[in-house]
Amino acid sequence: MINELKYGNTRTYIIKGKKGSILVDTDWAGTLQNFFKGIKEMGLRISDIKYLLITHYHPDHMGIAQDLVDLGIELLVIDKQIDYIHFSDEYLFKNKNDNFKPINENLAKIITCKESREILRKVGINGEIIHTPGHSDDSISVVVDKEAVIVGDLYPIQIAVGYDDMVIKSWNKILSYNVNIAYYGHAKEDFIGGIKSLDNTK
Ligand SMILES: [Zn+2]
Repeated sequence: MINELKYGNTRTYIIKGKKGSILVDTDWAGTLQNFFKGIKEMGLRISDIKYLLITHYHPDHMGIAQDLVDLGIELLVIDKQIDYIHFSDEYLFKNKNDNFKPINENLAKIITCKESREILRKVGINGEIIHTPGHSDDSISVVVDKEAVIVGDLYPIQIAVGYDDMVIKSWNKILSYNVNIAYYGHAKEDFIGGIKSLDNTK
């Protein structure tokens, strides 16, 4: 079950599993207090959130990641993302008031997409993390079987045709999972049930 948790500019998501929740993305640095308010309104405590996953390491998706790790949430990093986790550090350090903390990779749990189904199952979620480059090379999406996908900043499906082939390829990978809803980092969700594939040649 996916719930939107918006406490700033970015749409972040909580996936509730039977044995714990996963948070997908954070907002900018400096939003920790708003995050606390947001989860409280959802009736969640920090200890209910087992894992944090970042769809890609742009500053508006990972600003408080290390703050949350310090509070006991485990950061899952896909092996394909490892070279990108400090991509936004320089930018986020510029605003001193935000108290940005860079990610300590030694505390992160690095996994492959292949291993992700097993990890998600541990918290009672049936799904998978897949590599969906196009917006950035480190972009991943989170599939919840028979339900939905969280795609981060992958270009929305209605405007994807016309972008480069990598975007189309990533969407076709997503569509092969037959989920009904696509959740975005900055746009309202789309119903994608029934769309079999995208064709970039038209
Ligand atoms: Zn982005």
